[in-house]
This record gives sequence, structure tokens and C-alpha cells, in this order.
Amino acid sequence: MSKESPTIIIGHKNPDTDSIVATLAYSHLKIKLGENATPARAGKLNNETKFVLSYLKVEPPKLVENLDQKQVILLDHGDTSQVALELDNAEIVEIIDHHKIGDIQTKSPILYRAEPVGSTSTIIAKLFKEKGQTIEKQSAGLLLAGIISDTLFLNSPTTTQQDKDALQDLSKIAQINPEELAKAMFEAKSDISGFKAKDIIGGDYKEWEENGVKFGIGVFETVQPEKVRTIDVEIFKALPEFKKEQGVELIFFALIDILKQESFMYLIAEKETKLCEQGFAGTIKDKIMFLPDIVSRKKQILPVLAKLLTDK
Ligand code: MN
Ligand code: MN
Repeated sequence: MSKESPTIIIGHKNPDTDSIVATLAYSHLKIKLGENATPARAGKLNNETKFVLSYLKVEPPKLVENLDQKQVILLDHGDTSQVALELDNAEIVEIIDHHKIGDIQTKSPILYRAEPVGSTSTIIAKLFKEKGQTIEKQSAGLLLAGIISDTLFLNSPTTTQQDKDALQDLSKIAQINPEELAKAMFEAKSDISGFKAKDIIGGDYKEWEENGVKFGIGVFETVQPEKVRTIDVEIFKALPEFKKEQGVELIFFALIDILKQESFMYLIAEKETKLCEQGFAGTIKDKIMFLPDIVSRKKQILPVLAKLLTDK
């Protein structure tokens, strides 16, 4: 590994706002600490992230196509299924994450920081403090957006006191009203103009494997679920095609209403329907299960489905 080439800081594939802003802010911290690091992204930006970056006047991280011979820091993921690029010829030097411990293996000891908080941005904000570094206005704005996005403005059950405290601190430094930023971000996130059904299903899609069963869960968070509901027919047509393309045995898609704090689970086949009937108390109408109070894939959907598949 060449010393001159910077360490690449990268988030997961199908990047969300947390996965992008955390790489930008963490590379600022690394540079302040005299380390050579550069932010990168693993895919196309979603509408919410595009809004955040243009609002804060920050250039998006560069899209990278391979990580061969590079030192790499993984943010916001620790599962090989969320990795965007081949890591066989890369050297993972750090992982900072807030998901369940995944299956990524490393050749040498690394810094692995995993905390059950609402966003990777929360951990990055803590790291600035721990390293005795001040957070600049711009980085504060970025991290603020990451917390708002991942915690649905502190409404997701993944939210912790640490996220709330960090949001307060960061909004002061950034001189941004968090309510206003959240509203604008969620509106940007809900804009589906020009979207095909597949963009809605696959924009925030992740896969796992339990008991030899590969399954995927796509979510779409919105303040205007009714807009998506008008194309239910297209979504039901696109889901089996998407399932086939991804090569998974089961596929789930949840439309999440950020404001009402509820979701709609689209059930395309018998197996998916059975699992959801076993795992959730929702009622099904026209192949869609209504799930009151369910807004978090990580904390409320994945653990239920994974446990049912493990117990099988
Ligand atoms: Mn993420
Ligand atoms: Mn995250």
C-alpha cells in the first residue's frame, strides 16, 4: 500500500444521507488530525442527500469504482452484502458503524467502532470531541443532516439520548434550525417525480442471509405516502422482477410514512405474506399489510424477519 495515496472513507451501496455526510465530516476530522484521507461514495445520491449538499454548499464525495491497493475506512456498514466494491485487494483499516455486527473479516487488527445510536453521524460528532477537535460550521451542518435523516428527526425507535444531544450541539454550531432543515429534507426525500417503480423499491434496499435464505428489504421513507400509493400496481409489477434480478428468495418492500409513523408492507408472494403474518400484528388489504408504529427497518422489521427465518 502506498503511503502517499489517501485512505478512502466510504459508506454503503445505495448510499443514504448518513452514509454520505459521515464520510465528508470524518475526512475533515482526519485531515485536522494530520492524516491523509478522502471521502468517497459508492453510488448515486438520493434526492434528500442532493438537497442537503446543495443547501450546505458542499461538493459530493467522488464516486469510486475500485478500491484495489487502497486503505479503506468503512462507515455506516459492516456487512459484506452492503459493501459497494470488491475489497479483496484493499486493506480495511477502520469500521465505524451503528448496525448489527456484520460478517466483514479483516486480515489485521483494526479500529472497529460500533455503537447502538441513531446514526453514524452521531458517532463522528463524538469522535471530534474525543480527539479534542472543534467541528466547523459546515461539518456540523453535514452531521446534523445525517442524524435528522437516520432518526427521522429523532422519531425513529433507533433514536438515543446521544442523538438528541448531538443534534442540539450541532444545530447551534451550524446555526441551522433543525425543524426547518428536517422539513425541507423530508420534502426532498418524498419527491418521486421522474421515478419508476424500481427506483422506489431499490433506492434504499439491503440484503441479508439467515439460515441459508437470502432476503432483501427495500424501504421508502416519505411524508407523502399517497403519491407512492397511486402507483401500487406498478410497484407490484416491478417487485417480482427486482427480486429475480437480485437473486433473493424473499423480498419485502415497506413504504414508511414519516409523519404518521406507520408503514405499508407490500407482500408479493405466499412466503413473504406468511412471515409477515407470523411476525407482525398488521392487517392485510389488497396484499399490503398496514403496520402502525413501524418505521425502522433496522430495529423493527429486520430483527423480526431474521428471527423467524433463524427459528425455522
Ligand atoms: Mn445508512
Ligand atoms: Mn446510518
